[in-house]
Amino acid sequence: MRNKIPCSAERLGLLDPQMIQAISEGSAFQIAQRYLSESRVRIMEADDARITSTLIGNSGLHEQTIRLKDGHLISKCSCALPEEPMCRHCIAALLEYYRRAQPQQSQQPSVSEESDIPPLASPSLNGKTPSTQWRAADVKLSDAMQFMEWLHPATKAIQTHQQLPDPPTLKRSEVSIWIETIRGLADSRRESDQGSTRLTAEIRDRETHVRRLSQELRTSIDEMKATQTTAQALQRDIATYQETMAKVAELATEMIKHEEQMRAAARELLQEGSPFEQFANSVKEIAQTLKAAVKPAP
Ligand SMILES: [Zn+2]
Repeated sequence: MRNKIPCSAERLGLLDPQMIQAISEGSAFQIAQRYLSESRVRIMEADDARITSTLIGNSGLHEQTIRLKDGHLISKCSCALPEEPMCRHCIAALLEYYRRAQPQQSQQPSVSEESDIPPLASPSLNGKTPSTQWRAADVKLSDAMQFMEWLHPATKAIQTHQQLPDPPTLKRSEVSIWIETIRGLADSRRESDQGSTRLTAEIRDRETHVRRLSQELRTSIDEMKATQTTAQALQRDIATYQETMAKVAELATEMIKHEEQMRAAARELLQEGSPFEQFANSVKEIAQTLKAAVKPAP
């Protein structure tokens, strides 16, 4: 997501939370503040004109680049949120930069390198301490003791993926922010655990589906093979039948030929002057001669 907002500030460090809130969506600003209290923002590089940062949001890690150029605040984030004119991640990055830059600005007119920015929650901070930063002296010993007592079972619960124990009831203080941060991180971890359990179940479902499909495919292949065998047997039967038919046709042709020959022979026999007739006539003549010969003389 990329956005461009007109901005009269000369340096990014001059954008205070009130100014940032004025140009943000209310809900996005609130979520950004929560991210800030849960220390989810990490400034990678920053100067008066450009901030690059990363943030662990609810759906994973996002990268932000915020620039101040030609009277415009140009924000870019790897998320796909439709928040206008800036997403919660960019707002959180600006807030984090302000928080880090603030004490430094009271001593130096400008912040040019990140190495100049003191680490967050440094106990050695003095001078103008913003409300969200703390000093060791701000932490009450009793709060710290209660926190330490809670931290031990809490760590065990996190290691064994159990529900966190109920935190001690403390007034809003630096220690209560630590507890909130740990709870926020544990919640995120539980969400991602649930997500991965869901994904595992989904993968298992799909595997079952694929296994069933493979079985169906195997059955289909078996059926196809059986059909192929039947078709081959039928083909063989047809070939045999065709052979028989060819022989029958041959026999029929032969019979027709013989019939014609018989007809010709019969015709030949009955023809006048045929050898048969001649033979018959000769026999007749011989018979008549014999008859005449045996006739008694008058
Ligand atoms: Zn974003």
